[in-house]
Parts: sequence; C-alpha cells; structure tokens
Amino acid sequence: MSEARITPREAPLAMDAATFRALGHQLVDQLAECIAAVPAGPVTRDESPKAIRAALGLGGPLPEHGTDAGALLERTTRLLFAHSAFNQHPRFFGYITAGPAPIGVLGDLIASALNPNMGSWSLSPSGTEIEAETVRWIAELIGYPADCGGLLVSGGNMANFVGFFAARAAQAEWDVRADGVRPPAGGTLRVYGSDETHTWIQKAADLSGIGTAAIRKVKSLPDQRIDVADLRRQIEADRAAGDVPFLVAATGGTVMTGAVDALPEIAALCREQRVWFHVDGAYGGFAAAVPEAPADLRALALADSVAVDPHKWLYAPLEAGCALVRDPAHLRDAFSYHPPYYHFDEQVTNYVDYGMQNSRGFRALKVWLMLQHAGRSGYRRMISDDIALARLMAEAVAREPDLEMCTQELSITTFRVVPRDLRERADEPDVAAYLDTLNQQVLDRSQRAGETFVSNAIVHGRYVLRACIVNFRTQAADAEAAPAICARMGRELDTALRPAAIAPTTSRRP
Ligand SMILES: *Cc1c(COP(=O)(O)O)cnc(C)c1O
Repeated sequence: MSEARITPREAPLAMDAATFRALGHQLVDQLAECIAAVPAGPVTRDESPKAIRAALGLGGPLPEHGTDAGALLERTTRLLFAHSAFNQHPRFFGYITAGPAPIGVLGDLIASALNPNMGSWSLSPSGTEIEAETVRWIAELIGYPADCGGLLVSGGNMANFVGFFAARAAQAEWDVRADGVRPPAGGTLRVYGSDETHTWIQKAADLSGIGTAAIRKVKSLPDQRIDVADLRRQIEADRAAGDVPFLVAATGGTVMTGAVDALPEIAALCREQRVWFHVDGAYGGFAAAVPEAPADLRALALADSVAVDPHKWLYAPLEAGCALVRDPAHLRDAFSYHPPYYHFDEQVTNYVDYGMQNSRGFRALKVWLMLQHAGRSGYRRMISDDIALARLMAEAVAREPDLEMCTQELSITTFRVVPRDLRERADEPDVAAYLDTLNQQVLDRSQRAGETFVSNAIVHGRYVLRACIVNFRTQAADAEAAPAICARMGRELDTALRPAAIAPTTSRRP
C-alpha cells in the first residue's frame, strides 16, 4: 500500500500553482477589504474569552480529516477581522504597538514563500546579505556607526538581551560562558538601570543567572531621566565593595513617558568607568533620525550596543527587533559555538554565530522593503508627524477642563482625569486615591469601548493615562479626539463612582 501512495505521492498539504494563485488572489482581495474597513469600525470589541472562543468555533477536538483550503482561509480571515483589537486603527494609542505597513505585510508573504533559514549563509545566501544591509541601513538611519555588528531578532526584549550578553562576555575578565557568572575573585556582576527601565532588564538578569538582585536601581530625576550622579555613586561604591559593574542600561525613550536619558553624560561616565554602555532605544531609537527629538538621543551613536524595534517606530508587522553592537566581534564572542554537525564557511556571515537563535526566519525582508518604500525622508516625515500629533494631543488635553496634562515627550502624551471641582484638592490623600481609581476605570473603559485605546503610566506616583502615537494612519482629528473621549468617560464614571465623603458630584458645576 505504501508504494501505491507514494507513486505519485499525493501530500495532503500540497497545492498546485493554479489553486495557490486563485486562493491567494481571493485572500488578498478579502484582506484589502478588511483592512480598508478598520478605521470605520471599533478599535476593539468588548468580548469575553468565552465569547471569542464561541465566535471562532474553538474548543473542538483536533480534526481527524483535512478540509477545503479556500473556505478555511475565507472564514478565518472574516472571523479574525470581526473579533480583534486593531493596532492599525487610527485611534489606537496603547502601549507602543504600530500598525503594519502594507509593504511589510506583503514582504512577510515573500519571506515565507521563499522560507530561507537565516541561521547560515549557505541556507540563505541572498537573505543573509539582505539582513546585513538592513542592519547597516538601520544604523545609518539612527546615526550609529554603519560598520557595526547586529542582527534582526523578535523584538525589543530580545534585542536588549543581545546587548546584555555581548556585554557580559566582553566585560567579564574570566571565561563567563564556561565558568558561569560568579566572579572568581568574589563579588557579583552588577547592572545599572532606573525605575523607568523596561522589565527586559529583570528577565535578562534572571535568565542569565546573575539574578535580579544584581540590578542596581539608580534614582530617576523628576523628569524621569536617570540621575547620573547617583549612577556614578553606585558604580563607585560597588567597585569599592569588590563587585564587577559591567553594564549600564540607559534608555532612549522610556516606555512610560518617552524620556531620553542624558546619553552624552552616561557615555562619558561609562568610558571613564570602563563599563559597557547600552542604550535601550526600542521605542525612541528611530527618533534619532529626526530634528524634533532631544539632542541627547543622538548620543546613542556612542553606545557599545543599542536595541531598536522596527515593529514599533518603523511600523513593521510583528515581529521585528534589531540589536546593534559597535564591534561585531563582540557578538561572536558572546554567542558562537562550532558543533561538529555544521559545515559552515567561516568567511561568510552565519547568523547562528551572532545571536540566540539557531533556525531563523527572514524578518529582515519586510524591514528592507519598507526602508526602500519610504526612504529615509519618508521615515523622517512619518516619525516627525507622529511627534507633531502627540503635541497636538497635548494641546487638546490642555483645552479639557476635566483633564490634567502630565508629560509630553517624543510621541507619548500622558494626562489624567481630574474633575474640575477636585483640581485644588488633588493632593489630599483621599482625593489622590480616588483619582487613581477613577483613572484606572477610565483606562479600563477606553480599552473596552472601542472608541479610542489608551494605556497607562505611573508619573510621580500618580496613575495616569498614556497615549503613544507610532501610527502613520492617525490623523489630527484622531489625536484631538482621544482627550475629549477620555474626559467624557471620566465625567460619566465620576458621576457613578465618586464617594460622598469626597464631595457630591452634583455640587461641582454651577
Ligand atoms: C517595547 C519596549 C521594550 C520591549 O520590546 P518588545 O518589542 O515588546 O520586546 C523594551 N524597552 C523599551 C523602552 C520598549 O519601549
């Protein structure tokens, strides 16, 4: 029987060219319609996990037999676009999540059609060369030395991990990869961040084995930037105590407010102290390409390593992060092994030697296509416009009597609902606690109601609403609408929630 089945072989997943073409055309037609309909629909729908499972028909057993591909694709596309949260919606301002550039979407189709394994040059000759060019162009765009090393990874966390591990191997004066993370002379490896550093630093310290207790939390200043004097004190004290400071993680655009650390001063301190200078530019790094960004951001050019995130401010479809390391040798020193089962030419780039992954997908292609589609000037315009829209949003916040403006940096605007009659008393402890609750409720409603999607931050100990624009589909009217929507939600919720002990809402307006 096996012979009959394999001559000729009929594989259940095989598809002839004519069918592929027909299904592909149908799918692209359907997607074009779905995508075009997004702006007129809700940003998200308030559906429970149970409702989603029911709508998508999930929960059944693994199908025993195959099904028709055309119907499967049509139904899946229709259902997904009917039951999703849309980061490509012009009124999506949550977290730091860009909508996908259409050419990136198509690029992913080419990448998976070709399916090169980007771990080795021999398995991805053209792909590897395109990735190398993509890394170089990203460096050029942000003003980092173009002869740096680097590679595409899944996102900002992984890009930061790459910098972290490169630093660890470069800074430890013993063979840390073989002998482990405990310095032979005693003490502990130390890494420095602040309250505003993204949680990647905890994961990296944890997973690398140095442990989260090895992280020194440097004070941040009232403007959310790292306190460089405190950083110096802590490095010096640790060294005096016999510890091994190895990495300073500065941030070029913090995740909560977009603050840019004093990168030139930190660079100088790191050079003096012989500590690796890493910049987490996952959010803000690409803003170094535009004149609107703080001048300090351009000093990421001085870093030993930089993490940037094409799936944020380059608008690439998920996933695409990028790690850059000033000296390419540091990546090989941190990651390469030479197992007997690989026959790879040492004269070419084998990305397996430069990072954590073994088999790797062609993430670089979409980014490479996007950089050409928009060009440097196109990217400058989109990033500048996002910043301009975030500033416009801040002006709209200032016009709302029941909102209080908090911060505006890069393309992040933070604000909170403070009902006008409570403004004078906002710092009284019971009023402050109530305002935190009220803003949490506004956030929750914004993330469910579908009108506009914001996220939150903690600024000076207060719970605030946060809108981040990394969205070339957002128009001025969308940026101006978000504060008005949040203010209206705030008034509605205030009426329902205000404890009588604070002040009756009925007495607040003439
Ligand atoms: C988003 C972000 C990260 C994490 O990036 P992912 O792509 O989500 O992994 C790290 N640091 C900063 C500053 C970020 O904004």
